[in-house]
Order: sequence, then C-alpha cells, then structure tokens
Amino acid sequence: MTYEVKSLNEECGVFGIWGHSDAAKMTYFGLHSLQHRGQEGAGILSNDHGQLKRHRDMGLLSEVFKNPANLDKLTGTGAIGHVRYATAGEASVDNIQPFLFRFHDMQFGLAHNGNLTNAESLKQELEQRGAIFSSTSDSEILAHLIRRSHNPNLMGKIKEALSLVKGGFAYLLMFEDKLIAALDPNGFRPLSIGKMANGAVVVSSETCAFEVIGAEWIRDVKPGEIVIVDDNGIQYDSYTNDTQLAICSMEYIYFARPDSNIHGVNVHTARKRMGAQLAREFKHEADIVVGVPNSSLSAAMGFAEESGLPNEMGLIKNQYTQRTFIQPTQELREQGVRMKLSAVSGVVKGKRVVMIDDSIVRGTTSRRIVQLLKEAGASEVHVAIGSPALAYPCFYGIDIQTRQELIAANHTVEETCQIIGADSLTYLSIDGLIDSIGIETDAPNGGLCVAYFDGNYPTPLYDYEEEYRRSLGEKTSFYE
Ligand code: SF4
Repeated sequence: MTYEVKSLNEECGVFGIWGHSDAAKMTYFGLHSLQHRGQEGAGILSNDHGQLKRHRDMGLLSEVFKNPANLDKLTGTGAIGHVRYATAGEASVDNIQPFLFRFHDMQFGLAHNGNLTNAESLKQELEQRGAIFSSTSDSEILAHLIRRSHNPNLMGKIKEALSLVKGGFAYLLMFEDKLIAALDPNGFRPLSIGKMANGAVVVSSETCAFEVIGAEWIRDVKPGEIVIVDDNGIQYDSYTNDTQLAICSMEYIYFARPDSNIHGVNVHTARKRMGAQLAREFKHEADIVVGVPNSSLSAAMGFAEESGLPNEMGLIKNQYTQRTFIQPTQELREQGVRMKLSAVSGVVKGKRVVMIDDSIVRGTTSRRIVQLLKEAGASEVHVAIGSPALAYPCFYGIDIQTRQELIAANHTVEETCQIIGADSLTYLSIDGLIDSIGIETDAPNGGLCVAYFDGNYPTPLYDYEEEYRRSLGEKTSFYE
C-alpha cells in the first residue's frame, strides 16, 4: 500500500479511457486510486481529435499535477496514464510514462506495467539496426518493434511486436483513433475493463480505480489478449494462442488494494482466507492477534476469526512518512520502521502476541517490529506470515531480482526466526495460499505464479537465465 513498511515494491499502475469529454481528469482520479502501485513518477497523455498531448514528472500524482494548468491543457476524449515505480531503468524524468512517439506519418503513446525478460537482447538487436532509445526503461522497446515491423497494417505490426517481447506486461497504447490494451500470455499483471454510465470505456490495473469514477467492471483482460477501443466500441482480439494464466500471487498477498477484484476474487476476501488458513497451520498458544498495518489487517481478521483469538490494534501506523525503500542503508532502514510504526503498550503488555505480516523480504522490518512489540511489554511474539517464504527472485515486474536480498533464500525457518528475534515463525504453505485465493480456473497452481516461493517460473527467463542459474549454484534447470 502507499507508504507501506516494506522493502518490496510494485512495478507500476496504468489507467486508460476512451469516449469521455473530461478524459484526462478521469484518468487523474483513476491513477489516484492506483498510487500505491508506484510513487516515483506519474504522467497522463490525452487524445484531442488525434492530437496527443502529455504531462509527466517525478513524484506523486498530486505533486506532478499540483499546477491545475498541467491537467487543463490535456484536452480530449481519450487518455492514458501511468504511475511508476522503477523496476527497470533508473529514476529519471526520461523514464516517466506515458511515452509519446512522434513520426512523420503517425504518433502514439504507451504505458507499461511489468518487466520484460528479454529486454537487453532486444535492445541490443534494435540498436544494432539503428534504433535510438531516449530512456533506459524496457518499456520503450515495444514502440521500436511496432515501428520496425514490415507488416502492412497497424494491428499486424502490434501483434508482431507483442509476440516478440517476453516477460510480464500490461500495455496501454494510445493511437490517434483508438486505445489498445494488451496483456502478456501468462497474465502476470492484472488488467480490467470497465464502462461508465455515459458509455466511456476504461481500462485499469486494478478495479479499485473504477469505483472512484463510477465505472462498472465489465471483465478482466485475458492472457495473450488485445483489446481495441474506438468510437465503434470494444473489440477483443489476441496475438497468441499459447497462453496460460499465471497471475502474480503477490498481487493478492500484498500489492493490490483490498477493494480490488482480480479474476473474480476480492483481494480483501482472499487475504482473510489466507489468514484463516494460516491459523489452521499455526501450532502455538497465544492470547491476541495483531496485524501489521495496513496490508496485513485483512489476514489478521481471518486468523482471529478462525482461531477465536481477539484481533487487537497492537500496532499503529503513522500515515505521513515515506516508505523505507528510499533510505539506502540498513541502519537508516531500521530507524525508518520506528518512524512508521508504534506498538500499543496498553494492548500488548503481558500478552502472547501472534504478529501477522504478509511477507518477510530482508527480515529487517520484521526484526524491528518484533522488537517494538517486546519493548512494549509483549511476553511472547509469534510471527505468522500470510504467504510462503520468499526464497526466489521475481523477473516479471517486482523489484527483487537477486536471491541475496531475500532472507529465506539464505536461512532456514529456524535461523530466520532467531534473526528476527521471534518466539516462533510460521509461514503459510504454498497449497494453503493457492486454496485461499481460489481463482476459478483449470490452470496449474490455481492460475497463479508462485515462483517467488518455489522457483518454478512459468516461462523461460531469457536474459536473466544465466545469472539466475549462477545464483542457484549447481541447479541448472529451473523452469522445466
Ligand atoms: S515471481 Fe513472485 S512477484 Fe514475480 S510474478 Fe511470480 S509471484 Fe509475482
């Protein structure tokens, strides 16, 4: 969530609209609901009768559009917008999206959520053929592929380009006469379509953005699908039949807002079920349940209901501090937790506390929270995590790409428990996680990517393969 106490960061949020007289403003409100997906930069690109206009900058959406003139100038009935957290490419205004490409015969805008696994090799190949990149982001690659395609028509070019990029992607493309949305063949990232009462069509990374503008959800974009929205309505097409749903389970565990629905499952409800399942797997005696605010509160509710223990507010969050990830050193990170969270002594004193958190990344934050609870008088702190241990890196759009960063990749559960100073440590099982989310699908792992937990990546890793293989030592084949 926004300003979460966690070193795990989402990879961006996208929002698009077609057919509204105030398209840029609707996009602003939509992006506002997606701000938790990225706080480094934001931008909106509008379409006024085929004229594309854009404003983007570093910072939160409200800072980027602090001057109302920057939004007012984005006239037109179509728009796409983006909030960014940098997974690929450095933090600089050149990397803030939407990108805008102008050619002598056409122009288009692009917004991307995800991470390409073959970006480096594609970029090298394109540069050898004369392409010049204006950003260090992998998102620009699709534009070059579209432009360089020899296919005679635009949709052919787009389909060809989409079949060349690999990894996790949800794209929004704004052309002079249409808005296009496309999702990778595994649907790693969520993307939903909605409709407003006036007929305007909206596309968003999360359905929570529909609520704020009064749009109704129509359906989620399917893996490998292209959705074309123009003045004639919505058209569904695909660029590949080789698809299999493997949506990122971290969306349900941590990233998405609790009021969003993804593939028919409400995020809060899924988290509650994870908490209830965790209670069934938990083997210790305790007096109260305390969730780490905010993303663990739903799981704490489910745990308390299932275990019959009272759910108490033993930790309070200061809403007005920045996230810990912006502070580079371990020492500063540790201090950062204290700025963000306080333990409520009157609640936890003399109690055996079950501390519910959604995940452990480096262990730093967990250690500090356990310490806070003990300093406040908790007699025991049993840490229960609403997800399995994070032991493998992500290459599809989350910023952890090395195993060294993950405590569970380098330590056993017992060692981790000792390092964080807890009296016990329980992780949710992978099967428990899959059952708790419960998407209606025949796809493996209940339609989820659980590679973070078991290292079984749903796709080849392309440019990351060698490095990843090295990091595993003797293990040589990991996606068969
Ligand atoms: S590896 Fe983890 S974070 Fe990445 S897509 Fe899969 S479940 Fe999500």
